[in-house]
Amino acid sequence: MRLAVFALLLSVLVLSRPLDARVDIDIADIDIEDVEIRRLHDELGIPSDYAEQSGLPAQDPPLSLVSVGEDMYGREQRLTPQAADAWRRMQSAATRDGVSLLLVSAFRPPAYQASLLRRKLDRGESIAEALQAVAAPGHSEHQSGRAIDVSCAGCAVLEVEFERTETFQWLMQNAQIFGFSLSYPRGNPHGIMYEPWHWCYAPEDAP
Ligand SMILES: [Zn+2]
Repeated sequence: MRLAVFALLLSVLVLSRPLDARVDIDIADIDIEDVEIRRLHDELGIPSDYAEQSGLPAQDPPLSLVSVGEDMYGREQRLTPQAADAWRRMQSAATRDGVSLLLVSAFRPPAYQASLLRRKLDRGESIAEALQAVAAPGHSEHQSGRAIDVSCAGCAVLEVEFERTETFQWLMQNAQIFGFSLSYPRGNPHGIMYEPWHWCYAPEDAP
């Protein structure tokens, strides 16, 4: 079921070029971005104390984004120049070790983040339930251009069972060398479900 929903989401994303173009204009103007995020929060019914309760910081829009080529579904993905360089080096290192490491998702603008939540609400989830799986617009690390969702050839996509793959074990041993950290381990303080597939480039946070 989740796979079917994800496939549907992907098809929506592929068809959403105009959405991306609009956000590219927004990220050039932080004030417009703030207004847009407030509007999305109101529309989705996100509690006004969300930032305080989740402890998820507001993510600054990226100053620039570069292509990292296509993800495992053939969609072009973008990251900040630094994160893109780190991702390429990490993927090459995995390949050299004989480990498949594929991109599922990278930069996501706030409007796309909102569409992920809206889809959950449309399926009958409460906003509290939906926010356990999807961060609110403005607070997703994907909005920063530094976060990646990954998988591997023949592996589960955006499923907890990804943790049982060789690729996940490789990441646990090597990702920090490249500045990537697992953002949402089990029992994380943000109330976000365990996401073994979600890694964020934040070299200053690496141990
Ligand atoms: Zn993610």
